Amino acid sequence: MGSREQFYADISTQCNEVTPSCHLVVVKFPNDETMKFVVDCGLCQEEAGYELNQKLTFSAEKIAFTIVTHNHVDHTGRIPFMFKKGFQGKVYTSEDTQVLLPYALTDSCKVLKDVAKRNHTSPLYSELDVEHAIEKVVGCKIRKIEYPNNNVRLTFYENGHLVGAAMVLVQISYPGYEDINIFFMGDYNNKNMFLDLYELDRLVKDMNLTVVTEATYGDMNSSEMHECFEENITRCVSEGGTAIIPVFSLGRSQEILYKMQEFQNKGVLSPEIPIRFDGKLGIKYTNLFLKGSLHIKESMRNFLPQNFTFVDKSTREPVLRSTDSQIILTTSGMGSYGPAQLYIPEYIRRPNSLIHFTGYTAPGTLGGKLKSTPIGEIVEISGLRVKKAAKVEYTNEFSAHAKADEIVEFLKQFSNLKLVLVTHGENSKKEILAKRIVNEVDTKDVGILDRRYVFRVGPYGLIKTLTTKYL
Ligand SMILES: [Zn+2]
Repeated sequence: MGSREQFYADISTQCNEVTPSCHLVVVKFPNDETMKFVVDCGLCQEEAGYELNQKLTFSAEKIAFTIVTHNHVDHTGRIPFMFKKGFQGKVYTSEDTQVLLPYALTDSCKVLKDVAKRNHTSPLYSELDVEHAIEKVVGCKIRKIEYPNNNVRLTFYENGHLVGAAMVLVQISYPGYEDINIFFMGDYNNKNMFLDLYELDRLVKDMNLTVVTEATYGDMNSSEMHECFEENITRCVSEGGTAIIPVFSLGRSQEILYKMQEFQNKGVLSPEIPIRFDGKLGIKYTNLFLKGSLHIKESMRNFLPQNFTFVDKSTREPVLRSTDSQIILTTSGMGSYGPAQLYIPEYIRRPNSLIHFTGYTAPGTLGGKLKSTPIGEIVEISGLRVKKAAKVEYTNEFSAHAKADEIVEFLKQFSNLKLVLVTHGENSKKEILAKRIVNEVDTKDVGILDRRYVFRVGPYGLIKTLTTKYL
């Protein structure tokens, strides 16, 4: 066996706050060779992130391979940019994410083009870069080992965060040395109505392990979730109003459609009320669910409610102008992109309407803005000044992220945890979750990943932390 400093992996994050996600791992082998790989390379969607998106903090051409944990743009949106900057390796992801990724990257390329046009700059990447990226994607079977090279084994595990989402075990080996095992949870959820989720193998639970966990809801317990969606929606339509539901294209849209079917079956929602879905990408994803292109539960294949139609540009106008009671799902989830930009200004003026957000709405997005505007006040939407007359509601009951108690529960199953690294969340939430892990989980060390420190790990856990040039 060699000494501690001959074989190690330096783990760092290339981002600071909630979005985007990007981790760099630099491995040093005992023969002095190095190997670099990246786990996720997301796009910052907030205006403030415009500059951050422009520069990669590593040399793309020196990256051996990339792993994508799931198909959310804050984890995938700059993969084509890596190719533009000279990356030539493969992109390992789950089979389902391989199916979904081309839709997402093509869409984000279009959005970036529009943003560039507005700002009189050039887009971050082109359709050609997207094509290059898609060609290099390797769809990995769940729980089957994949070998990017002689020294690395990857195993993808089910994850309830999103259809196609995976947790990834990276095992780095060198002859004569114990393996370095790093387990990336990605964005994590312990449940998903569309997926069957299983226990991890005993082998994984017992290995010496460094785990990288997210902290989106690091300050919240699952018991603090407040369910109000069913009551709000059914009340609105029973009083003759229209409910506008901004949804994310993948996962949330399909989940809400299933909820509508459930409400109809329970008798709390009349099948007389039309239900519509307007959002190009969301409709494409919904069709993949319906066609059986993804590994979803057989029992969940038929999730559409009665009296349901898709809406597109050609059929939108009467839906938009109608004064009849209806339920309209529309993208994007925060209200700032897609047809939601048309439905919200139209329905926000109507006192019997309800705009019901179903996920996180970042400050600065339309959903965030409406939160801080009282009824009767004027709100600015795409240059217009509109009086807020409709009710606006928010719920976190559909969250795709595990809460702190559920993350702690997940971590407790490991018997040889050497290091837990907390990443991807507001700083205060990472801090709270890290403290909780120190108190409640049997692990040798706990660290917070931000751009100030690099964590050097070996086969037996943390070797040391190093400060970075970002200090
Ligand atoms: Zn995600």
